[in-house]
Amino acid sequence: MTVQTSPFFADHEQVVFFSDSATGLRAIIAIHSTVLGPAAGGCRMWNYADEQSAIDDVLRLSRGMSYKNAMADLPLGGGKAVILGDPRRHKSEALLEAFGRAVDSLAGRYVTAEDVGITVADMTVAARRTRYISGLGKTGASVGGDPSPKTAQGVFVGLQAAVAARLDRSDLEGLGVAVQGLGNVGYHLCRNLHQAGARLVVADVDEGRVARVCDEFGATGVSVDEILFADVDVLAPCALGGVLNARTIPQIRASVVAGAANNQLAEDADGARLQARGILYAPDYVINAGGIISVAAEYLGGKSESDVERDITRIHDRLVDLFARAKSEGKPTNVVADAMAEERMRRAADRAGRVRAA
Ligand code: NAD
Repeated sequence: MTVQTSPFFADHEQVVFFSDSATGLRAIIAIHSTVLGPAAGGCRMWNYADEQSAIDDVLRLSRGMSYKNAMADLPLGGGKAVILGDPRRHKSEALLEAFGRAVDSLAGRYVTAEDVGITVADMTVAARRTRYISGLGKTGASVGGDPSPKTAQGVFVGLQAAVAARLDRSDLEGLGVAVQGLGNVGYHLCRNLHQAGARLVVADVDEGRVARVCDEFGATGVSVDEILFADVDVLAPCALGGVLNARTIPQIRASVVAGAANNQLAEDADGARLQARGILYAPDYVINAGGIISVAAEYLGGKSESDVERDITRIHDRLVDLFARAKSEGKPTNVVADAMAEERMRRAADRAGRVRAA
């Protein structure tokens, strides 16, 4: 088992392993960076094949949160938690409370929220043991709650920026958009796109979800094997990671990729593969930041719903800048996004260094 020699280590500040035999909790919390503020990122519960897979996953996700939070202009660093186990069989209130104690022991260096396998109800149980938690959707709270519609809103405005940059179009009327995955985010994105007049082509492994979107938004359903290669203008991956890879990219017919899924590129080189084919890729962690913007507002306080709306709208302008920079430098958009996020973290580290030295 390796942490510091994992290919995903990326100079993490802290990685902590928790176990609690009374409840069966086995968890890892990874703090990639606190340069911009407390490390924020969700908790994933997953039945990993082995411990190394869990370590690699938490490190990769945690670093991704540093980049996402930096690019969203949030005063938050990047971190992530994983609970090792099958959410359907191993989850209990006692285990979730033990996880809450684990988060609390870090005294605010890490702030948790929902991710795959963890619901708002689960986080409400963990919150009995820690206040370093968000995405609870407190009754009566003015901001926050379910982040998915906010993520969809951010993807929608980001998609508009990509369409303007690549297709030179300011409206979406009649534009063909293929949406892969019609879950929490995909469904809301389809609604926004339908209202804007887009022609939807959709797929999900859950046929009930396909039927609903076809019925409500006049979408055309296709098989899960066809969706990535549909004859459309825009592809919006909203299901799984790794869908853009050496096998799929040569077959994509869309000229824009703009969707919510995390880790859409199987490897960094896939950004260059997309660029070589003239496909404009909206980097996932930039376009899908609407949810964390809302979760951050809930945790940090001091913002109204209209402030959150405005902050989500800025995803559009951020992508306009990013696309312009990628074009002028002739670089893939994912490379430019990484460089911009690293610049922001470096500047914050320099400022902190100057304060300490003063
Ligand atoms: P979800 O689990 O609600 O929805 C995912 C959907 O994809 C499900 O309907 C599932 O049946 C479908 N799916 C799975 N495999 C598929 C396949 N091979 N082909 C087509 N459909 C398939 O998840 P979500 O919350 O909507 O998130 C979607 C993606 O966006 C995930 O990658 C997630 O990490 C990312 N994301 C979500 C948020 C958020 O606020 N929920 C924020 C940032 C990023």
